[in-house]
This record gives sequence, C-alpha cells and structure tokens, in this order.
Amino acid sequence: MKLFLYGHSFHYEMENLCRLFFHRQKIEVFEDCREFDGPDAALTLVEREGETLHLLVKTAVGAYRGEGRDTVSVETPPQEVERRLAVLLFRQLTEACGICPRWGILTGVRPVKFFRSLVEKHGEDEAVRIFREDYLVTEEKLELSRVTMRNEGALLARSQPDSCSLYVSIPFCPTRCAYCSFVSSTVEKTVKLIPDYVELLCRELEKTAEVVRDCGLRVESVYFGGGTPTAISAEQLALLLDTVNTQFDLSHSREFTVEAGRPDTVTREKLEVLQNSGVTRISINPQTLSDQVLRRIGRRHTTQQTLDAFHLARACGMNNINMDLIAGLPGDTVEGFHATLDGVLALSPESVTVHTLSLKRSDQLFQDGAGEPEGETAAQMLDYAQHRLTEEGYLPYYLYRQSRMVGNLENIGWCLPGCESPYNVYIMDETHTILACGAGAATKVKRPGVDELERIFNFKFPYEYINRFQEVLERKNRVKQCYEQFQGTVCPFS
Ligand code: SF4
Repeated sequence: MKLFLYGHSFHYEMENLCRLFFHRQKIEVFEDCREFDGPDAALTLVEREGETLHLLVKTAVGAYRGEGRDTVSVETPPQEVERRLAVLLFRQLTEACGICPRWGILTGVRPVKFFRSLVEKHGEDEAVRIFREDYLVTEEKLELSRVTMRNEGALLARSQPDSCSLYVSIPFCPTRCAYCSFVSSTVEKTVKLIPDYVELLCRELEKTAEVVRDCGLRVESVYFGGGTPTAISAEQLALLLDTVNTQFDLSHSREFTVEAGRPDTVTREKLEVLQNSGVTRISINPQTLSDQVLRRIGRRHTTQQTLDAFHLARACGMNNINMDLIAGLPGDTVEGFHATLDGVLALSPESVTVHTLSLKRSDQLFQDGAGEPEGETAAQMLDYAQHRLTEEGYLPYYLYRQSRMVGNLENIGWCLPGCESPYNVYIMDETHTILACGAGAATKVKRPGVDELERIFNFKFPYEYINRFQEVLERKNRVKQCYEQFQGTVCPFS
C-alpha cells in the first residue's frame, strides 16, 4: 500500500491508520508528494490559504475512488488537525475495504486511560460524545471503556504517592513460542546461566530493598513475570521468594503473583514452594485448548497438561488462578475459540485474560507469513468472550492495546469481583513507581502528582545482565536520585 503525505507531519498516525486496513502489507510512505497513484494508495494533504488550512484525503483501493475535504483555522492545535485528517482517511478506508475497526481512529495503547482523562476534564457525557463522534469508537467499545474505567478506578484510588510495586523478571522459557517478541531465552540454550542469574538477581533484590527503605516507599504488590518464572527449579524459586520475603516489608502488599505461564513447567514441588512463600496468585496460561493450534504456535505442551496443572494447583491450595487466552491465533476458528473459552470457564479460574494476537517483526510467525485469522474473526472471538465472561460474573478491570494487533483490538483482564491483580492496573495506568529487577526489566519511577515517569533500563539479555552486573546495581541508585529531585530532599516521604 502506498501512502502519500503533503504539508503535514502526521506521518506516524496516518501510517498506523493505513495498517489497520492493510495489516499484512508493507506501507510505503512518500513524503512531500501531492499526487498519488494506485492500485492501493492514499493521499493526505494539508495546505494553507490565508488564515485557513485546507485538508484533503484521496484514496484509490481496487475499484474504489474516494475524496474528502475539511477546513480549519490556522489557529487549530496540530493534534486537532491530525484528528480531522485521520477521520477523513478512516471514513474512506472503511468504505473501500468494507471493514470498520471497532476502536475507530484510536490507535493509542491505553484507551481507558485516555477516556478517564476526558471524563476528568469534560465530564462523562462529553467524554462519551468525544469517543463516539470525534474518534468514531463503536458503542460496544465505548461501553467497555466505561465499565473498565469504573472497575479499575477502585484499585487506582488505593495507590498513594509513596506506593511502589516490585517486578521480578525471569526471562527463561522451556521453548520459544512462534508469536513471542519478548526477551526470552529457552532453558535448553541458557541453562548454564541460570544459577549465576538467580544469585545476582537476589543481590539486585537486596539492593532494591535498600532503595525502598531509603526512599520511604511502601510495597503494594509483587509480581514475578517473564518469560516463565516456573521454568527455573523449585530450589531457585525458593531462594528468590525467600529473598523478597526477608528483604522487603510486605505488610502493605495486596498481591504476590508468580506467573506459572507454561503448564509444562508446573510441578507439585514448585507449587508447594509458591504456596509456602506467601504467593497469593498464579497464572497458568493455556492460550488455546486446541492441541492442533498449540502445535502451530510452537508451544510444546498439550491441553491435557494445562488441565492437569490447573487441578494440581487447586489441590496445592492455590485459590486465585488466572488463565491467559489469545484470540486470533493461526489455525484457530471462531468455533474453536468458543470451545477454548467454555473449557476454561468450566474450570472456574478467578480471572481470565483475553489477549488478541499481536505480530511483531521479530516473531517467527510474522517472518513465516503464517496466516492469522482476519480482524473480523478475532473481533467475533472477543465478542463471544465478552458475552460469556459477563454472563459468568467476570468484570473487565484493565484493558490495553499493543501495536500490530489483529483487527486493532485489545487485551482485557477479566476477574471475579475481589480477585483483581492490582499490579496489572498499576503497570498499565502508570499509577506509581515500579521497581523492576532482572534482565530485560525496566524500572519506572513515578513523579508524585504528575503524569511523568523516569525509566531506568536493565540490560536486555541474561548474559549482559550477568557480565555487567555492577552497572545494574549502580543504576538502582538513580531511583534515589529521582526521589531526591522530586522534592529536593533526601527522602520525600520519611
Ligand atoms: S511463554 Fe511467553 S515469554 Fe515464553 S516464549 Fe512463549 S510467549 Fe514468549
């Protein structure tokens, strides 16, 4: 697909919009071109005449030819000019391609956060109008934003200026899934690194606990993610959990989650370690209950292993279990997804997170050009999920999007009332400081009272983390410096 731009700098937004309709095609961008040629092409143009800006969008898609115009004053803020141009382009591509993306022209990753900011600024009625008329969001996504905003609001209200959460990264997995774009090393390849990694991670946790004490912070939630934290041994898990429990004051913490994502890594021994270490919530992720689809996406486990892991976790006393699913997997069908969701609901997990497939260039699936279902198919899967989960009493409490999601859809965390993961809300909303330890982890220091974060990155790969560990420790001091800067004192809350 060819995109021609003239007289504006909204390259990024226009390209993102085109990708909604031509998601498997390369978008070729031509700047400073006021003419265009097809077969699949669009021209977006802004031209000044006196005190007026003329906006023009033309499209040629197959046999379709479209043209739309708008005018605004030169005083109009650039984001409003961009929005109006996006509306012209969206309307034509919707007609030309015969599909209507449900989030309209909203391509950002946090629609609920945006919705809340509109409510705070203009009131709920006007926020609804803006979503519906200015951003062309469908009624169902509008309602979803509204309900999710209310549910997450209760959790956000509990976070205080001195709150923080702890994230611990275990970037190892038994094998690499074909759709994975995270930093995740397979255990087979990196098993030699794990003992050193765990030992150094304990030291980083000790250093982080010192920072928490020095800054007078309160730990509100602890989250072990990855990768697959249960890919390491029970002894290694016990060592890390013990370090967290002994180094940090967790008396204010409302959540201690460990992702046990891959069912083939779940054993009784590891579950007992989790249960005895104060872990309150785990995640066992089927993604799908179709063995055929599992093979297609390179997850080396079976549906039976998922069911066995779930029952074992229950037998070991785990009473808050999340299960992740993905809509839009290659080889999956709407009926197949219904069967997966119904199968998961039959287990009665406390939460179900429904993701939509997102393909990055680094994924094996993207490189293979594997045919994932079309956006409309994924949308039907999500519609069914929304209907069934609501029927079973689950509430949506966080929602986010990633780039290149099938159908420009979303990921939603659903849970039974009272079983939320506050961490998931805090990380998405950027509510408070997240202190992150381990390879690939990024600490986010929140400036109290304003919507600003300072990011401090750890090294991406386990071997870099191990080889340059002294630098990892030194970077943790930056957290203290941030808090000193915030209030000009050594310790703003103590
Ligand atoms: S389990 Fe998750 S992190 Fe691990 S390879 Fe699969 S998608 Fe990547």
